[in-house]
Amino acid sequence: MTVQSKITHHHVCPATYGYAFEARKGQMFRLTDLEGQQPIDFWGFCKADANEHLSVCHTRVWNLSMVVRPGQVAVTNKRRPIVTMIEDNSPGQHDMLLAACDPTRFETLGHKGHHRNCQDNMHEALAALGVKLPFSPQPWNLFTHFPWTSDMRIELQSPDTKPGDNIVFRAEMDAIFAISACPQDITRICGDKNTPVQVEVFG
Ligand SMILES: [Zn+2]
Repeated sequence: MTVQSKITHHHVCPATYGYAFEARKGQMFRLTDLEGQQPIDFWGFCKADANEHLSVCHTRVWNLSMVVRPGQVAVTNKRRPIVTMIEDNSPGQHDMLLAACDPTRFETLGHKGHHRNCQDNMHEALAALGVKLPFSPQPWNLFTHFPWTSDMRIELQSPDTKPGDNIVFRAEMDAIFAISACPQDITRICGDKNTPVQVEVFG
């Protein structure tokens, strides 16, 4: 663990809920899968203008990679670095291809009525900080396991993460970050149950 600074902000995000927090340029933060097998959908927004946001497709081009590894950055839709991945204390499976779960996803999976979902969690979490967005960027799906097969199909598997697996990021601009402890409970992408996740921001 390279972070030497004190924790200045700590939050445990309940299972199936979202949370948003601010980080200044240069500040580090750690996202932890507390109980294991819990995906965290992750978004980042420029504090000065939330229309500029972490973009997984721009990030794939930036790194010429399907994933981000420690030392690499994620960039915005204006191709500016927004976070660097400092440490990845997990199996390193963080999908950058699939959309967040949303009401229609649950409807098409056969669920009747309202179901908590990552897309609404992101908007709820941002609203708590006074940010209203007319769009929903694609998330970075941390702690997921969506391997693609030799014939390019995508499989939705349960994560390999263990309790306490975590990622440390450094903000590369003054930013607002949002997370969702994914509420998916119809497919197996959250293993057997939905569990809480933790945010720690360092000084
Ligand atoms: Zn989800």
